[in-house]
Amino acid sequence: MQDIHTYSFKGKRALVRVDFNVPLDSEYRVTDNTRIRAALPTLKKVLESGGSLILMSHLGRPKKAEEKYSLRHILPAVEELLEVPVLFAPDCMGEEAAKIARSLQPGQVLLLENLRFYAQEEGKPRSLPESQKKFTATLASYADCYINDAFGTAHRAHASNTLITEHFPNDKMFGYLLLAEIQALDNLLHNPAQPVTALLGGAKVSSKMGIIKNLLNKVDNLIIGGGMAFTFIKASGGNIGNSLCEDHLLDTALDILNKAAQKGVQIYLPTDVLAVRSLDPHAETVTCPVDNIPDGWMGVDAGSETLKVWKKVILQSKTLLWNGPAGVFEIPAFANGTLQLVTYVAEATQNGAFSLVGGGDSVAAVTQMGYADKVSYVSTGGGAMLEYLEGKELPGIAAMT
Ligand code: AMP
Repeated sequence: MQDIHTYSFKGKRALVRVDFNVPLDSEYRVTDNTRIRAALPTLKKVLESGGSLILMSHLGRPKKAEEKYSLRHILPAVEELLEVPVLFAPDCMGEEAAKIARSLQPGQVLLLENLRFYAQEEGKPRSLPESQKKFTATLASYADCYINDAFGTAHRAHASNTLITEHFPNDKMFGYLLLAEIQALDNLLHNPAQPVTALLGGAKVSSKMGIIKNLLNKVDNLIIGGGMAFTFIKASGGNIGNSLCEDHLLDTALDILNKAAQKGVQIYLPTDVLAVRSLDPHAETVTCPVDNIPDGWMGVDAGSETLKVWKKVILQSKTLLWNGPAGVFEIPAFANGTLQLVTYVAEATQNGAFSLVGGGDSVAAVTQMGYADKVSYVSTGGGAMLEYLEGKELPGIAAMT
């Protein structure tokens, strides 16, 4: 594998797998350009070194070509951020894409249409290996070198981040974003400054089981908030009313609590919660002990006693990982806990802690508060980050090395 810092791009066409899967409003305007901005260092490096760019990405989860998911919509945003005109190929396959790619001059940029308009991008079960190979060979034929800078899809074995690397045995490399993501995560996993605290929240324990198990070997403190906390509270004998719970995981939750105790990991579940009878933004609220929520009520946010304890733990930490909201933060009346977490993590960072925030909702909370530059690293990958922290090998990374 090559190193983007030293590779010579002069006169070369670089095929870059970026993650431009950005949110769009009803008029197809980009509402959050974080992912495009995150790719800029790599893209500018190629252009400034005398190369040209062929950008490929997915957008959404189309099963066939659909106007709604066309990458054409993001063209103005890419042009504005990159500060150069960007050509567009209305199909990532086909003669037109090949023709534009062939005629690219140094400094020029081509954006290909959504890769997922082709079943071959995701591969099985909708596309046969042979047709997937052809798809990849066509994409590869456009360029002289390949850069993977799409961390958000690194946990998926898709054609554009795995199979394609075979076509560039001596001319493939990671982009700056992917390198930075790996470095931030490795920083956390290997030799982090202690004490290490992980804050996990969100709706489901099931989606975070793997990471919880792996983190028990890495952290000193584990703060568990959001809807997933109630499975642990119920497993410990608490009355959680109508709060979110995954009953099939009660034994697993107990097992995790026991393992944590054996390993000396301190678990901090909420002690009090804000509860409502319905998820109505104007619903009547009560604060009650987390293990004594009245029947018919559900916990939707961390209470003030809980936040006091969490704040203390966070401020004493030297390394912090945060993934998942502490409550139903999309509803302003239930967002306090999550927004408070943002301020605690920022304060700890200011005091010298290393903080890594990842996952759509936690990143949204940090961005909403305007605190993105007050934490050490904001990851662009939700699923990819969780799988990396689970200790899994990510296909998009393995294919390169
Ligand atoms: P996840 O995708 O698992 O990280 O979950 C994120 C979702 O968890 C957000 O949409 C939150 O609204 C939701 N959530 C957080 N806390 C709770 C709670 N106490 N009850 C129900 N949903 C919650």
